Amino acid sequence: MKIYQKCSQQSHFCVQLKQQLLRWHMQKYWFICSVLLLVLALGCKNPPTRAQDWMQENGKVKVLCTTAMVADIVQGVGGEQIDCLTLIQGENDPHSYQLVKGDDEKFSRADLIFCSGLGLEHGPSLRAALEHNPKVFSLGDYLHRTYPSSIVFIDKTVDPHVWMDVGLWQKTIEMVSRILSEKMPDQKALLEQNARSTASRLSQLDAEIAAKLQTVPLDQRYLVTTHDAFNYFTRAYLAPKEELSSSLWRLRCQAPEGLAPDSQLSTADIQQLTDHLIRFNISTIFAESNVSQDSLKKIVDVMHKKGRTVHIAKRPLYADACGTNSYQDMMQYDAEIIARGLLNGS
Ligand SMILES: [Zn+2]
Repeated sequence: MKIYQKCSQQSHFCVQLKQQLLRWHMQKYWFICSVLLLVLALGCKNPPTRAQDWMQENGKVKVLCTTAMVADIVQGVGGEQIDCLTLIQGENDPHSYQLVKGDDEKFSRADLIFCSGLGLEHGPSLRAALEHNPKVFSLGDYLHRTYPSSIVFIDKTVDPHVWMDVGLWQKTIEMVSRILSEKMPDQKALLEQNARSTASRLSQLDAEIAAKLQTVPLDQRYLVTTHDAFNYFTRAYLAPKEELSSSLWRLRCQAPEGLAPDSQLSTADIQQLTDHLIRFNISTIFAESNVSQDSLKKIVDVMHKKGRTVHIAKRPLYADACGTNSYQDMMQYDAEIIARGLLNGS
């Protein structure tokens, strides 16, 4: 009986011990699995985006720019002293851009905000975020105030595409340099040095584009694009000096869709444009990267019915959006495509 009781007690003890060991193993197993899953999750986590990175404190002045063209000037002047983020990226249209999730936080985080202005950023939510905001400085509005005669008006509406004239856009350096120097007075000398380097780079770009377009005979320098983004470009690089004192230079730049690429083409618009193509013997017209080619295709069809051959240049121009290019690359590319298209129709 004693032996039986002992065996029974031992057996009970053994079962309890086994159960305890099993529980311990299971806990260990789950603990190891949890650690592995955590390590895996951390390892697979996406690296922070540029915007997330920009939101973090790093001791630099946080600057938000609405477009890549604005950022080119601001980053050039600010250099290493600022942390600069572009709000409207890639092919997004600055005319119609509306704030998306996370943009409000960028506006709150920014110490300074630079926009293109002159009505470019007219998407309601973006416009509301910019208007009456004491942190916002407009490069275009600065040009309008300081160099009023340099601003182009189309039917009494200001043309916001000022960056398409590099020499004019370059003049905003003085304003950006002043604003940044006021924010970082101890960095003034360095910022002024950056401003001089940026001005030199853009002067060189301006001269390079002018020289490129000079290779096109004057009677072939007529540009037709999807929307009215190339008036400043035309005045700076396609028109001869003698046309600048009158409105004659404006004949060298036409677009079916007006200042913002969202208008519908009327029969009268098509008639006016086809008359223009015939009058100036224009055979190549230019699409834009972020704008539908529908209006240009209609023009080509109408011209075809009139027995005239007009074609759309193989490669689109960039105007409102740089895509993945820098501002400098975009302007060099446009100059090349326009010169090539006007010279030999490719
Ligand atoms: Zn535009």
